[in-house]
Amino acid sequence: MAHLVPNPPPVDYQKPQITSFSIGADGVGKLLAWGCAPGKNWRVGTDFADEVVSDWYTSTFPDLTYFYIKGARKGMKLAIFVVGDSGSWVRYSEYVEVDSNLGDKWAAKAAAGILNQSSYNSHIKFYPFGAPQGNPSMSEDEWMNKIEETLGTLNRNVIGSCVLRNIRKDIVIHPFLRPYQQAYSSVLINPGQWVTDFRPGARVDEVLLHELIHVIENNARVYENRYGFTFDSSDFLTVNATNVYSCMLGRGLRKDHGPFEYLPVEHFRNPKLHWEQQSPNYWAASGTAPDLVRVLGEVEGFWNPFSYLAQSQKIWGTLAGD
Ligand SMILES: [Zn+2]
Repeated sequence: MAHLVPNPPPVDYQKPQITSFSIGADGVGKLLAWGCAPGKNWRVGTDFADEVVSDWYTSTFPDLTYFYIKGARKGMKLAIFVVGDSGSWVRYSEYVEVDSNLGDKWAAKAAAGILNQSSYNSHIKFYPFGAPQGNPSMSEDEWMNKIEETLGTLNRNVIGSCVLRNIRKDIVIHPFLRPYQQAYSSVLINPGQWVTDFRPGARVDEVLLHELIHVIENNARVYENRYGFTFDSSDFLTVNATNVYSCMLGRGLRKDHGPFEYLPVEHFRNPKLHWEQQSPNYWAASGTAPDLVRVLGEVEGFWNPFSYLAQSQKIWGTLAGD
């Protein structure tokens, strides 16, 4: 096992000494670590690898590694993690708690339950701490304004506004701090990463809609891979409701949960084929997000296999009614 060491280190730093630490006014944690052998991949953060981001450097002490820790908030429990034999992160030290972060001016609001909220749904709260450490970097206010503006874009569309209406419990949106493109339904997003990507489904409003659909589905894992389409058990409605949205806005459509490829042309030209091949997934979606699927079923004049689901539901409803 390794352990975290305060900076500067005490004389007998080879023994574990701290169970908590504080972060200064620049908002970035600086800790040393004892016991991180070279040649391995290390990080300091929480159990959720993309929540807190760390860079590491050799220190002036031969057996200490210097960590630069971004996105750490008061109350978080940080530890040293290493990439294990299975290729995933394994915890390699005891936890150390963040006592305070003087650079996080939102912490007091979060503790008091008064984080800024979206004007489109008061359950959506913003916690912009860390946005300047994102890549691209932006100020916290700019980050918050861009997310609110994107929620406004969604709200002007019948699908987007339905998704926003269906968020019925509080969610907090945080900046995503890694340099590569990714977003999470927890929700972590860097709006600056999704402005010059022309692949289908990769514009900031599409990415945010996708993550919010996960929220209203409670991250349901009910979908199957069918006919060469990969949905990773959770990403059928996120992709295909967003496809109907994208089509309404004149955008290209995304195939599946793979890396933003185009929907094959035979399925684009013939949404009924998509319905026929994926109908178990369409029925599953009607269970996880009934309101959204009903609204989708009424959208006309665009690529929309949900309309075939709606027809089938009517037939089954009539049979049941008889
Ligand atoms: Zn997803």
